[in-house]
Amino acid sequence: MIKEIVDVLIIGAGPSGSVAASYLYNKGFKIKVVEKSKFPRFVIGESLLPRCMDHFEEVGLLDCLNDFGFEIKRGARFMKKGKICNFDFSKKHGPGWNWTWQVPRADFDKVLTDELMARGVDIAFEQEVLAVEFYEGGSRSTMKDSSGQISTVQAKYIVDSSGYGRVLPRLLDLEKPSSIPKHTSIFTHVNDKNRPSGQEGTLITFDVVNTETWFWVIPFSNGITSIGFVGPTEYMASFEGSNPEKLRTMLPLSEYYHKRFAEVDFLFDPIVIKNFSKSVKQLYGKGYALTGNSAEFLDPVFSSGVTFATESALLAAKLIGRELRQETVDWDKEYTQYIMSGVNVFATYVKEWYTGDLQKIFFHEPENPEIKKQICAVLAGYVWDQTNPFVKNHHRLVKTVARITDMEKETSERN
Ligand SMILES: Cc1cc2nc3c(=O)[nH]c(=O)nc-3n(C[C@H](O)[C@H](O)[C@H](O)COP(=O)(O)OP(=O)(O)OC[C@H]3O[C@@H](n4cnc5c(N)ncnc54)[C@H](O)[C@@H]3O)c2cc1C
Repeated sequence: MIKEIVDVLIIGAGPSGSVAASYLYNKGFKIKVVEKSKFPRFVIGESLLPRCMDHFEEVGLLDCLNDFGFEIKRGARFMKKGKICNFDFSKKHGPGWNWTWQVPRADFDKVLTDELMARGVDIAFEQEVLAVEFYEGGSRSTMKDSSGQISTVQAKYIVDSSGYGRVLPRLLDLEKPSSIPKHTSIFTHVNDKNRPSGQEGTLITFDVVNTETWFWVIPFSNGITSIGFVGPTEYMASFEGSNPEKLRTMLPLSEYYHKRFAEVDFLFDPIVIKNFSKSVKQLYGKGYALTGNSAEFLDPVFSSGVTFATESALLAAKLIGRELRQETVDWDKEYTQYIMSGVNVFATYVKEWYTGDLQKIFFHEPENPEIKKQICAVLAGYVWDQTNPFVKNHHRLVKTVARITDMEKETSERN
């Protein structure tokens, strides 16, 4: 049996694992990444937020991504029954990136891992972590490869970036029900043969079908477009037939898009992910940290998944680096409290989206430019920026503004 000893074992080579690996490798630590799949592999999570550009830049992964030519995302369009709300990241509150990408993740994640391997990072594909045993000063993880060969890695620290694999939450009984209402998604990729030219053809759009159900359209630079519905789990279960039949039946729910996608071929059988929101009892423990989807996943509506995955990975990697250099780290304050402060902001926006309060603000006319700027910064992923009132006071501000919007509407209807 092969046995290896490293400083840090990273489980999973998605964006979270790649950012953690890049940071720790650049700092000179002996690391190993183990990944269950063979890349390229499909994974959902295709619309990024400007905030994650900071993370890729800091760990030296921005140039390789830039070279690939992914579709540029400069904002996001929300539509509901003929009304349109456009967010332009260049008009957001505060500093920070004002663009990012829309990416087929098979390509995106492979660009990252190819770059890391070219620099010398040890990434073992088709290695599934089956068991982890912790002891004083470290851990021993057991892996199985595609031929059934078992190996072990001893590590002082584990970064669990295993996404929905949720390796340590499962093994250490850390799963906790999410506070987000139960939603389900059905999605696929299409050859977008009816794609209009110009900006309309490249815009990422969230088309609201009803308060709790919406349709996404994410065009990629390779002519393929990602489409999908999200809705309450019970409602989504009411559509009958195979997954392709369900998605075909649902397409006319999007008045704006259904003609464009009525005749297109699905490039793979639509995938259904049921009750996708996830949470954990704790984000770290002795000898490990959870990052990305292995820790928390809220909802796709504001595309926060990858950004949270890279934010948490970079911070966890920095704290592990400090601890390995014998510095004291207050994990509760420096990791959990910080990470959860941003997660809680997004959680408010997700919840208020599904109560309909946020939709009232988005589609209210005339729009309030100051409020829009501040919400735009949240949608760009800058949810740790306490100078933004819509971050600092997220708990009450969204509700308050929605009430004012209601009152304004009542007054204008009366007059
Ligand atoms: C319907 C839906 C739509 C979404 N849309 C968006 C979006 O538009 N934008 C966005 O930012 N996010 C979106 N997300 C969320 C996004 O998918 C995740 O947040 C993101 O992929 C998390 O990255 P990660 O690196 O944590 O995990 P992943 O990218 O999932 O990577 C984890 C890796 O770990 C590997 N792994 C798993 N188990 C093991 C094991 N036992 N041993 C070794 N390796 C293992 C997996 O093979 C995988 O490659 C969406 C999610 C859903 C459900």
